[in-house]
Amino acid sequence: MSADRSSAEDVFLARQDDRAGRRIQVFIVVKTAPTPSAKYVDTVCVAGLVVSPGPLRWVRLYPVPFRHLDFERQFRKYSIIEVDVAAPDHGDGRPESLKVKDFNRITVLEETGSDSVRRHEIMRDVEPTTACVLYSGAKADPAGATSLGLVAPIDPRIEVAASKGWSESQKRTIEAHQDQLALDLGAELRRDAPPLESPPFQAWYVYRCETDGCREHRQGILDWELTALQRRAQKEGGDARSWIKERFETIMLSRERSTRFILGNQAAGHKRHTFSVLSIYYPKREAVNRAMMALSSLF
Ligand SMILES: [Zn+2]
Repeated sequence: MSADRSSAEDVFLARQDDRAGRRIQVFIVVKTAPTPSAKYVDTVCVAGLVVSPGPLRWVRLYPVPFRHLDFERQFRKYSIIEVDVAAPDHGDGRPESLKVKDFNRITVLEETGSDSVRRHEIMRDVEPTTACVLYSGAKADPAGATSLGLVAPIDPRIEVAASKGWSESQKRTIEAHQDQLALDLGAELRRDAPPLESPPFQAWYVYRCETDGCREHRQGILDWELTALQRRAQKEGGDARSWIKERFETIMLSRERSTRFILGNQAAGHKRHTFSVLSIYYPKREAVNRAMMALSSLF
């Protein structure tokens, strides 16, 4: 995405058409951990890049009752899906936010692998930002500021601590659903799923961004993979904390990888300047180089 004026205007116009309602193709880069929801039992935040119709732009699809979708609708990260979208219902005025109009009309078009040229091509075209730029933008204009972005972390490290568990209101939401089948909650949702458990640990990344004079950021990791990994560790009798360190630090922050964080902010108006790490993109440098070579040979 180039930052010139005409492309900014193209993005603005495309977003207007998205909110008016249409079918778009989205390359998925974010699936956050499920959290309790009064309406849908539990939901996740999905975000990605619109690849068609262009121009390339960030979108947030929220809420998505992912665990309750039919299996064939349960897309993986780095899939390209086709989905009907429209303006969100409840005053989420963030420019990237959309709602899914019919969960049963989600179609998975393509799953891109880690060596897929397509995957690297899309990510290459995303204009990077920094955590400091996102923060100051949301401070200055909580309603209209950019609320999703790709940043390069400098000297990142992870902090892991015991989770505080669900809040009182989240607990009440889960209890309220326990005697009730997902079926009762609307014809859209057909799958029941086991009650949502809070994972034992939460984690943060501490790093500097590329803005000159950046002091430090400490941002919570909301990626679903963090929760899923802990479930697997529990199931297999592993130590969840060391599993987190191994995957989210040793592997994801390895020097062999060109690691980027996808940041997103909170919906509540007074918390818009609070950004979290929604997803980690950590391709091997050699895979990026190979894909770029393949791309250049196409022209
Ligand atoms: Zn910074």
